[in-house]
Amino acid sequence: MKGMVYLVGAGPGDPGLVTIKALEVLRRAQVVVYDQLANPSLLSEAPAGAELIYVGKKAGAHAVPQEGINDLLVTRARAGLTVVRLKGGDPFVFGRGGEEAEELAAAGVRFEIIPGVTSAIAVPAYAGIPVTHRRYTTLATFVTGHEDPTKEEGTIPWANLGRNPGTLVFLMGVKNLAENCRRLMEEGKPPDTPAAVIEKGATLEQRTVTGTLADIASQAQDMGIRPPAILVVGGVAELRDKLKWWETRPLWGKTVVVTRSREQASRLVALLAAAGARCLEIPTLEIGPPDDYASLDKALFQIKDFHWIVFTSANGVSAFMERLFGQGKDVRALGGARLAAIGPATAEALKLYGLIPDVVPQSFVAEDLAAALAPHIFPGTRVLLARAQVAREVLPETLEKLGARVEVAPVYKARPPASLAPEAETAIREGRIDVLTFTSSATVHNFAVLLGKERFQALAEKAIVAAIGPITAATLKEYGLTPQIQPDSYTIPALAAAVIDYFGGEK
Ligand code: SAH
Repeated sequence: MKGMVYLVGAGPGDPGLVTIKALEVLRRAQVVVYDQLANPSLLSEAPAGAELIYVGKKAGAHAVPQEGINDLLVTRARAGLTVVRLKGGDPFVFGRGGEEAEELAAAGVRFEIIPGVTSAIAVPAYAGIPVTHRRYTTLATFVTGHEDPTKEEGTIPWANLGRNPGTLVFLMGVKNLAENCRRLMEEGKPPDTPAAVIEKGATLEQRTVTGTLADIASQAQDMGIRPPAILVVGGVAELRDKLKWWETRPLWGKTVVVTRSREQASRLVALLAAAGARCLEIPTLEIGPPDDYASLDKALFQIKDFHWIVFTSANGVSAFMERLFGQGKDVRALGGARLAAIGPATAEALKLYGLIPDVVPQSFVAEDLAAALAPHIFPGTRVLLARAQVAREVLPETLEKLGARVEVAPVYKARPPASLAPEAETAIREGRIDVLTFTSSATVHNFAVLLGKERFQALAEKAIVAAIGPITAATLKEYGLTPQIQPDSYTIPALAAAVIDYFGGEK
């Protein structure tokens, strides 16, 4: 068995800036050797059993010296393992990737390089600064800024840089910022050359200072800029005024609470995050088994007798299927039963099992589902309603009035979690919450239970409140709250769009 080392660039911070090839090797890595990464969430892409080894700097000192890292790569590869050496940005841009590759070559270990999006280009880009631009410059230079600029035997050609008419991009230069700027001016760079410093670029913490070579260092100091940061010197830096985009997205700087269960939150989070929001997931529901499976099991036993099976949530679909499969049956057991889904997400969930619902109402509350089903209900029509253990009774009651024989089978139970996560606790205490989103009446009630009614009301009064639809809004009213945001149709994308519109309108 032959080992392999991949020297992989992880990009500058935004997890979307990792390459497809990097993800592909990460997902089959047996060993991941990584530094301080702008976005450690990438590590969760590694397989469950992979060995994760941190070799980055801690408090100024190398946790593992470079020779140690080289040895590690060689020995793991020689043991036949697939090793991913993950580095921020691009592995060959000030990342010592070149040295590691030399060691691997010398040791006869197979390796491949997977370039990454370097912060030297991407961080200025996220600040709205193109490192080259036909009107400004035909060249760009990357410089390491951590060499002591007063040092006699330094290797940075300052005299050359001072006369260099192109864009200069300094990495690792926060500590020496003032000295580096002074040195450039000394060597002939005009003090009024536009300059920018970008801290934690391509992340939600990104901060940018703009100015001139003469004042950028003191400005950065005033703002308390800390590593990692990049200094851009050159005319292109003034383009930021026109081209800034990352921090001008509608939800930038807003902390939005997402109260859905963890399983369901990802879609709303993705949509809000794409508009710049910092999402704070506070799950108010944990999906678990119902208190009792008796009704479901009984229904599954006689599943062929039902004319309709009605699903009122994506969770209901997966819980139902799991129970069905658990009994050694598959979807063919549903036979000729027709299927109804309360909305598109539920319909999507059915599709995962190769099923297309016969009825999906135009808007997605129980009343509308009942109305959409009504033409199909006759005296004696047998309906299986697979739903949460605690739910409103409108649907079964309406169908029964039409003559249906309705079997209500709880397939899951949503329970409020025992306590708030510490991160959420802190954000609430520090008053950092801008928006609260609620996607069902249950999320409202459970959030109130989780926080305590008074704390909930105090928080909601300070924040902007978004409700997915009229029922959820009515539940908020029970707590004396009126949502400022409510979409016209009751879906997650519509809710996200309404939140974005609300803040987009401010600009
Ligand atoms: N190989 C990396 C650079 C490693 S040197 C790359 O290609 O991006 C580390 C320096 O990169 C930091 O000191 C800082 O100057 C810069 N850097 C990396 N990520 C950054 C980020 N998200 N924001 C600002 N600077 C960053």
